[in-house]
Amino acid sequence: MTQSAFSYVDDVLHAEGVSAASLAEQFGTPLYVYSRSALTEAYHAYADACDGRRAKIHVAVKANSNLAVLNVFARLGAGFDIVSAGELARVLAAGGKAENTVFSGVGKTAAEMREALDAGVKCFNVESIPELHALNEVAKAAGKKAPVSLRVNPDVDAKTHPYISTGLKSNKFGVAFADARATYAQAGAMSNLDVIGIDCHIGSQITEISPYLDAVDKLLDLVEQIEADGAQIRHVDVGGGLGITYDDETPPDIGDFVRTLLAHVEKRGHGQREVYFEPGRSLVGNAGVLLTRVEYLKPGEEKNFVIVDAAMNDLARPAMYEAFHRIVPVVKRAAQAHVYDVVGPVCESGDWLGRDRELAVEPGDLLAICSAGAYGFVMSSNYNTRPRAAEVMVDHERARLVREREEVKQLFAGESILPE
Ligand SMILES: *Cc1c(COP(=O)(O)O)cnc(C)c1O
Repeated sequence: MTQSAFSYVDDVLHAEGVSAASLAEQFGTPLYVYSRSALTEAYHAYADACDGRRAKIHVAVKANSNLAVLNVFARLGAGFDIVSAGELARVLAAGGKAENTVFSGVGKTAAEMREALDAGVKCFNVESIPELHALNEVAKAAGKKAPVSLRVNPDVDAKTHPYISTGLKSNKFGVAFADARATYAQAGAMSNLDVIGIDCHIGSQITEISPYLDAVDKLLDLVEQIEADGAQIRHVDVGGGLGITYDDETPPDIGDFVRTLLAHVEKRGHGQREVYFEPGRSLVGNAGVLLTRVEYLKPGEEKNFVIVDAAMNDLARPAMYEAFHRIVPVVKRAAQAHVYDVVGPVCESGDWLGRDRELAVEPGDLLAICSAGAYGFVMSSNYNTRPRAAEVMVDHERARLVREREEVKQLFAGESILPE
């Protein structure tokens, strides 16, 4: 296992001190299981490397927004990175603070801006000139000044999947590098904006440091120009995107990554600035698994299938990005293994969770889909009128239900039929 909090004890997979088989028994399947110690350990890897430095960690809420998960981070002193008013509400409900929260996203509505302004978020990461105008208007109406950073697109190749690469010219994100200086000048002239920072986010599941160093270099070049124009940039936000090991990837160690970046900023003579990190996946990805039960084995001429009770609506990443997730038995069997595609019951050929996997399984067995803590539950849907899975957090020997399994009747509770 690449997930330290999940390991076998006498051939039974455990989450910390709790058997995964007993969790499935108690809470049913499909079931998301998170480890508090894994969340804590990953956060500490960032925080320890930032210790004594002018650096802040803002947890990217969109990777896993369960209140219990956010609360673990809030208690550890984390800030948050949100992309909607909904996520702001979650942060506040989980004990996070607006003044430690930055608001990212390419399409913030005026209503969302107003909510975030009233709550007192630390910074709006703005992505376009029209958005600057909109925020300036909202702030004027509220009689406030909105703290602003511009998300600049540094046009570096993060060498990741096209759907999760965000720092290239062809992406919808950020202000084009060539336009950034002029955009800062415009922002600086708006009466109800307070320009305080610069940010970027170059992609996700990045397994090398070099694209970050390239991006930081371009950002700092720009900062020097902008300040020559009279602005004052207090913080440099390098975004998130650090990768994790799903299979055999070898991303940099979190502490090394943070220290290398901070050292680079210092070497460039910008050590007085605060550096913000916005990690999502690297905090939560390997802190979670998805447990599922085998319904049927279906041998075929070309392919053998294991049909399980989890599906693309529960974990969309394989269908969406052809993402690889390790799939392991919850109880190891000493039987002959066969090669299977692991698929769900949803009526789509894209509904697969793993391809060509060697497994020794029987109907009724439990499987764990690994590295499912990031972009797992948060991307789940009710497609095929499937209730969303329950979520459990394990803390040493204890397991707590942190989200109830949905019931079918909830799924159409807001619907109605025509009166005649
Ligand atoms: C998605 C996102 C993140 C987090 O990305 P990870 O790959 O999960 O670390 C951080 N910042 C912004 C602006 C994002 O959109």
